[in-house]
Amino acid sequence: MGLLGAHVSTSGGIYNAITNGENLKCDAIQIFTKSQMRWDAKPLKEKDVEKFKKMWSVSRIKKIIVHDSYLINLGSPDPEKHKKSKLSFIDEIKRAKKLGTNFLVFHPGAHMGEGESKCIKRIGDTLNEITTEVDSENLIILIETTAGQGTNVGYRFEHLRDILAIVNNPEKFGVCIDTCHIFAAGYDIRTADAYKNVMREFNGLIGINKIFAFHLNDAKVDLGSRVDRHENIGVGKIGKDAFGFIVNDRRFESVPMVLETPGGNEYYEKNLEILRGLIK
Ligand SMILES: [Zn+2]
Repeated sequence: MGLLGAHVSTSGGIYNAITNGENLKCDAIQIFTKSQMRWDAKPLKEKDVEKFKKMWSVSRIKKIIVHDSYLINLGSPDPEKHKKSKLSFIDEIKRAKKLGTNFLVFHPGAHMGEGESKCIKRIGDTLNEITTEVDSENLIILIETTAGQGTNVGYRFEHLRDILAIVNNPEKFGVCIDTCHIFAAGYDIRTADAYKNVMREFNGLIGINKIFAFHLNDAKVDLGSRVDRHENIGVGKIGKDAFGFIVNDRRFESVPMVLETPGGNEYYEKNLEILRGLIK
């Protein structure tokens, strides 16, 4: 089994994420370190950071993932937006590092009509610029698989492979698999054989050891629909079985697996109960 948990709220103070995670008996959590829909953010208060670290150190939570702002597009062809995205991403790294978190997850980007290959190249190049400008030591940056909605890249494992091929320090990077996104992108994981094939394909292109996190979400939408709509575990189009394959996959024993399902804590509780019940 992996380290099961959820994306929890930091409302009222960044350290409240730890309490929220503890209440849900999470072994891993994911957080935003600032509003995910805004560019600007106040710097983290020293006092809050200390409290966060102290509470984490005595909690059951082993790994913490930071998710970046939804506004960031490292593949943007618009110079202004691209610059803003780059600066904002550097800030995300600094905040994640200040909190001592383990991973920073980001959506690779959208080409906005410019085409996928240029976008992929720009993302890789930008990651190189970023990691020369800021020290990301001890923080692994994870590219998340996407549903391929709109002009988003990252809905094929090949896209992630190509970005990772551009970066100068591949050891600083990894992948976060979102089950809803890959399913919407056309990767079927509903049967044992299908799951095995998808993992084999990933292994051949990127390497299973580059999977550092999972987002466990069922999907409201059909296989290959390229639409990003998360659903609670077991009631979506993916179904319970797929999650059983993942939580019982020995290769992912120490990998954080967090829910991003709708409905808040009440549903997180139910979903975590389902996931724990699937463990053999
Ligand atoms: Zn996700």
